[in-house]
Amino acid sequence: MLEKYRWTAIFILLLAVIIMIFAGSQFVEMHRLEPLYPSQYLTEVKGLSEYFSAIRGSSGDTEVYIFDSGQPGATVLLLGGTHPNESSSLITAVIIIENLRVTKGKFIVIPRACQSGFTCTDPMEGCPQMFTIASANGHRKFRFGSRVANPLDQWPDPLVYSHYPSGQKLSGFETRNLNRSYPGRPDGSFSEKVGYAIVQLIRIEKVDVAIDLHEAAPEIPIINAIISHEKCRDLAATAILNLEFSDLKYAMEMSPDNFHGLSHREWGDNTETMPFLMETCNPIQGRLRGRTHAGLIIDGVDACYARAVNTKALRITYNPAGQPLKERVGRHLQGIIAIIEAFNELYPDRSIVWENLPGYSELMENDVGSYLR
Ligand SMILES: [Zn+2]
Repeated sequence: MLEKYRWTAIFILLLAVIIMIFAGSQFVEMHRLEPLYPSQYLTEVKGLSEYFSAIRGSSGDTEVYIFDSGQPGATVLLLGGTHPNESSSLITAVIIIENLRVTKGKFIVIPRACQSGFTCTDPMEGCPQMFTIASANGHRKFRFGSRVANPLDQWPDPLVYSHYPSGQKLSGFETRNLNRSYPGRPDGSFSEKVGYAIVQLIRIEKVDVAIDLHEAAPEIPIINAIISHEKCRDLAATAILNLEFSDLKYAMEMSPDNFHGLSHREWGDNTETMPFLMETCNPIQGRLRGRTHAGLIIDGVDACYARAVNTKALRITYNPAGQPLKERVGRHLQGIIAIIEAFNELYPDRSIVWENLPGYSELMENDVGSYLR
C-alpha cells in the first residue's frame, strides 16, 4: 500500500520544497534594503532609533540621512515612504539623498519612513513587489510595499482603531497606518512607536519645516494639493503662488482640525514645526485600474482610467496619456523647492540654501534615472 504512493509522496514533497524556496527567496528579497548612493555632501546617517531607543533592532528603525552645512539656518525634514505603495515619495527622497548639497542650514531625509511596510505588499491587490528604473549607471531596483506596516510587526488588527490621544475611531486596519499614528506614544503599538520616534526627531532637531510626501488614486480629490496646518497658511499660499510661475497647478487644502493621527495635523499641534503634505496622482493605487504591473508605476498608463476620464461621468484627475513617475517625482521636487523658497522669503533670518536639486522641468526633460547615481 505504502509502496504504491511512494512516488506521489516524493513528488508532493519536492513540489512543496520548490514552492518554499521560491516563496522564501521573495520573502527575503523584500527584507533587503535597496542600496542608496548618497551625495558626497552627506554629513551623517543615523538610525531613527537614536531619537527613540525602544525601536532599535525592530523594523520600525529606519535610516535618517542628514545634510548639515554647519552654517546656521533652517532645519527641514522630508519623509518619503510613509506609505510604501506610493513610489514617487520614495524616489523623490532618494534623488535628494543622491544629489543634494546644503550650504546653509540642515536638511534631514527619511526615505523609508514606514520601513516595515516595505517588506510586504497589500493582499488581494496583485501588486508587483519590485520596480526597476534605468539609470546611466545600470538598473536600480526598488521595492513596492504596502500602505501599512507588515502584520508580522503588528498583529492582530482590532475591529475598531481608537486613535491616541483623541479617541477618534477608524477602521481596525488603520492601526498599522503610520499616517494615522501620530503623535504616537512610547508605550503604544508598533506604528505608534514609529510615529512617536518621528515626532521626537522633529522636537530634538528643532525642525522648522517638515514635508511628508504621498500619492493617491486618481479619483481622490486631494491630488495635486498641498495640505498644511493652519499655522502655516501664509507659507502654503506663497508656495502655491511660486508653483504657478512654474505652470504647476496646486490646490491649497487646510488640515481638518477634527481629523486626527495625520502628519499635517499632529506634527503641527504637537511640535513647533510647520508641516506640509503633498499628493501626486498614482493610478496603481486606484480602484478603477486595469492590469496591475511594475510598468504602471513607471509610465502611469492605464487604459481603464483613460476610458473613465473620457466618459466624463466621474471627477478624475488623470491624464489619459499617463502619469509617469518622472512627472510625479518632478512635481514633488518642485513642490519642495517652492515651499522652501516661500519659507526663505517669509523668514529670511532663518533661511536654508542648497544646490544640485533638480526641479519639475529637469525631471521631465532628463527622466528619473539621470538623477540616480
Ligand atoms: Zn499616502
